[in-house]
Parts: sequence; C-alpha cells; structure tokens
Amino acid sequence: MTHLSCKKFLVILFLLVAFSLLADAEKPALLKLRYNENYSPTYDEVIEMYKQLDATYSQARLIEAGLTDSGRPLHTFVISRSGNFDAETIRSEGKTVVLINNGIHPGEPEGIDASLEFADDILRNKDGMGAWLEHSVLVIIPVYNIGGALNRSAYNRSGQTTPYETGFRGNYGNLDLNRDFTKCDSENARSFTRIFQYWNPDLFLDTHTTNGSDHQHAITMIPPQPDQFPGTMRDFLRKTFLPGLYREMGNGQYPLIPYVDYFYEDVRDGIRGGQEGPRFSSGYAALFHSYGMMTENLIYASYSDRVRSTYDFIRSLVKLSADHQQEILASRKKGIEESMTAGKFSLSYEIDTTRFQMIEFHGYEVDRQQISPVTGLPRLGYDRNRPFTASIRYYDTYKPLLEIDIPDYFVVPQAWKPVLERLALNKVEYRVLERDTIIRVLVDYLDEVTSQNRPYNGHFFHSQVLTRSEIQEVRYFAGDWIIPVRQERIRYILEMLEPKARDSFLRWNFFDSVLDQREYFSSFGFEENALRTLEEFPELKKGLEERRKTDPEFAKNHRAQLQYIYENSPWLEKSWKRYPVGKIMGRLEY
Ligand SMILES: [Zn+2]
Repeated sequence: MTHLSCKKFLVILFLLVAFSLLADAEKPALLKLRYNENYSPTYDEVIEMYKQLDATYSQARLIEAGLTDSGRPLHTFVISRSGNFDAETIRSEGKTVVLINNGIHPGEPEGIDASLEFADDILRNKDGMGAWLEHSVLVIIPVYNIGGALNRSAYNRSGQTTPYETGFRGNYGNLDLNRDFTKCDSENARSFTRIFQYWNPDLFLDTHTTNGSDHQHAITMIPPQPDQFPGTMRDFLRKTFLPGLYREMGNGQYPLIPYVDYFYEDVRDGIRGGQEGPRFSSGYAALFHSYGMMTENLIYASYSDRVRSTYDFIRSLVKLSADHQQEILASRKKGIEESMTAGKFSLSYEIDTTRFQMIEFHGYEVDRQQISPVTGLPRLGYDRNRPFTASIRYYDTYKPLLEIDIPDYFVVPQAWKPVLERLALNKVEYRVLERDTIIRVLVDYLDEVTSQNRPYNGHFFHSQVLTRSEIQEVRYFAGDWIIPVRQERIRYILEMLEPKARDSFLRWNFFDSVLDQREYFSSFGFEENALRTLEEFPELKKGLEERRKTDPEFAKNHRAQLQYIYENSPWLEKSWKRYPVGKIMGRLEY
C-alpha cells in the first residue's frame, strides 16, 4: 500500500465510521401523540402513523395479516434491525421475538398510544434503545379489535373519564375477543392464531385497563403464572424474569405491582395472583411455552400516566428480551422437552394459601361512608387524601389439582371438522388413517355435563363435566386423524382435547351432538325385538326376572321392563354420551 492510498483508505474509513455513527444517532420523533390532551388516536389515525414509520425506516414494516370480523385486515408492525421480516429466518438467527397485542378491548387504549410512541422511539434510537434490536425483534398488533375500535363513542366506558372517546369492548360480531383464543369464533382470533403460530413469540404482552379498586399504581400486571409451566420455565420466571421486570419498573417513575385481586376484604391482608386459562390471551400463549402476560392500567390514574407507564413496561420488556436473550430461548426449548417427556399433566390448579411473598403496595384508605355526589347517600370509596404504603402478602403459588396420565395418541373422527380446523390452525401435527380400521381405545363417557343456563360469548359453556372411562374397540374411517400427543404442541393438544380441561373443545360445545340419543324404543314396537333379545342373552333374562321379584313396582310396569331390556343390551347406542375422541395409552397398534 503506497503512502497516498493509505491516506485515502483512512479517509474512507473515517467517513464510514462517521456515517455509521450518524446512522445510529438519535433522530427527532416522527409522531405527534396527544395522550396529554386525553386523546387516543382513531383506528385510521393509528394505521396512518404506522405507515409513516414504515415509509421512514427500512427496519420497520407494516404488514397486512389476515381479516377480522369487520372486514378490515389485521396488521402487524414488525421492527427488525436486519431488515429481514421473515419469521423463520429471524428465529434461525436466534433473536427473541416479542409480540404486543393492543386494543383487544378498544376502550382500554393505553397500549395503542404507548406502542406507537415506543416504535417511534426505538426506531429513532432514542437513548440508544436501538441496541436492543441486535437481540430482539418486535411485532406489534396496532389494534386487534378493529370493529370495536371503529365503534367509537364518549359513552363506551362508564367507569372511565379519559380519554374522552374510546372504542367498544365487543367486536363486530359482539364477541369479547379475550375469551375467544381457543374457540376461535371470530375471524380476528383465527387471524391472530396464524400470526402467533407464524412468529412463535418468546414474550407476549396484551394491554388492558382495569377499574377494580383505587390505589397509587398507574400500572399492574397479570404475569405468566409460573406454576403452569414446566420446571425450567417456572424457575426462569421466578428467579430471573419476574424479579427483573419489577426491578426495571421500580427504577422508573411507575413502580409495578401484580394485578390487585382481593384475597381478603382488606388489601393489607394480601392479594392473590391469578392464573389465566387458555381462553385468555396470556393463557393461550402459555399453551405454546410462550411467556404471555397482560398489563392492567388503573383507570383512575390520568390517561397520560397510564400511557407513560405502559410505555415503561414495553420498554422494560424489550430490554429484558435483549438482556436475557439466551436464557429465554434456552428455557423455552428445555421447557418443551420437559413437557414432551412428562408422565402427568394437570388439568386444573388451586392456590396454595400457605405460600406468599411480600410486596410493597401504595394504596389509599378505604372510606365506607363517602357521600355520593349523585345520590347524596353514603357509599364505599377511596380517600385520595389518605395514601398509605404497606408491605402486603402476595399469594402466587398454585398446586396441581386434577392430574391425568398423558395419553400417547388421540384419535379424532373427521366428522368434527371445526375441531380439526382449529387443530390445523394451531399447527398440530397429525397423520390421517389410510383405511377403515378398528382401534382399541380408551373412551370417556360424559356421564354428567352441566351447562350454564345463559349464553356466554355465543356458547352454553359446560361448567361441569363428569366422566367415566372404558376400553372399547371402535371403528374409525379412512381420513380420521391420529394425533401423537408427545409433540411440541402437547400442552395445546391436552388442554383442548381432554374433555375435562378448563377450556376444552367439549366445554365450548364443539361435541354437543353426542349428548342426546339418536335411537329409542316404543312401548309396543320394541316387543318382538325385546323377546328375541331375551332369548339371545340369558343373563339379561335372569336379571330381568330377579328385578321383577325384588321390585313390585317394576313388576307392574310394562314400559320400565322394556326400558330395562333396551338399556342393558346392545340396543342402547354406544355412541350416546361417548366423547368421540379416543385415547391410546402406549403404542399405536391397528
Ligand atoms: Zn381488558
């Protein structure tokens, strides 16, 4: 290298370094959010702002991602430093994926504002935040419940005074989308499932607002409940992730506490940690070994504090996703292995009242004699002039309540197409029977199924299910599905196909057609066959005669005797009350 070309080289090097520093330098904010004026953007304004960010930054892209019940498409806004937006490539690079869902309840819009501001800030590298994108990719659903967001009014949230206008809780099909993650009645939920399965997020956040009680915390959290995860994931949550999140928030302006779920009448006696089932967003995420959580802003805090505290939460979450990149990925991988090799699976849990930790709580004294400005009568309220700080008990340990032996295969007849569609949507692996086959399976009889007497989110949910098991040889047809249970989606498979699981397909009415009888008998039409049946089964005949001797009422009752014959012979259809999904414990042989 000559002296001159060396100089030239140094100049080029200097320019390159200067340019890259410039590229990393903080840029001015692009978006003008108005949460300080108690204004949250409309749906169209939100999408317009994300389009602006997309047009400005090559590291961001707004992508249409399936339809919603409103006919409008769902979007994802992806922030990926490499400029690569393909999930598979991103995952193969070993980056953590953080998925944030906003506006599931559009009357609770803090996350909509906070995500916009955070996206703007991380893209412009405010305070060096862009460095986290070396380790993580961020996927934001700007507004999930689009139909509800378009149904905007000042009269949608009676407990809330700001922002002045918000969307409505139900979607265009009037469903609460935060009950729809497994039954998937809405187009929104089906699109969400595709998004979730495509990105397979390591961390998942769903943003909400609550009005339960008044205290000094602008933001609370429903964390991923550690005890429903396999050991490695539970330990990572308890020892690293959750303490890290509380610490990170504690360093800022908005100390984080768990969602205030009263365990006792007086909050000073303790609060309880919740465990969200699969119908909820965070519970759904847990089925896929994803760390899912919800923020719950307190509606009595100012809108600006609610947005800023959610912003801080997102900031803390993304920071942790980068700081603990390897542990997050490794714990999930190990957790999946642990689930796949477990012997037992718990279908339900109960809180352990002997175990708690102490947390610092900033509250307001309860006043049971506050005078209502509306009625002039005394009512319960909180006295904001009497704040207090106390160390309180937080009960957050759950223990298994109903454990089952994990079957090795489920056999699902193709007649239950809506079930197969949902299994496929959630990327469950299966094989199809190639020919009609008789398989020896364990079947559950649904002895008692008690339903709620009013519709709940479009269903008569079965709140109580009692079963009894039997081994039977059952005929299946070519095209029926065999599902090996010990696969990556084992938790989803068990929670959906075990009839007694808390949000199983059975509970949500997908199998109701087996609950009533298709054949029966008439009092004189059955006689010829009944006579033949008694000849055919001497034990039955003996049983009938015994019963006549011991039960005089029965002896005088013609129909009761025919019923006895009908119910204790092959005339009674085996498929009545038989849960159609068969189980195979052990090797698959047919
Ligand atoms: Zn909500």
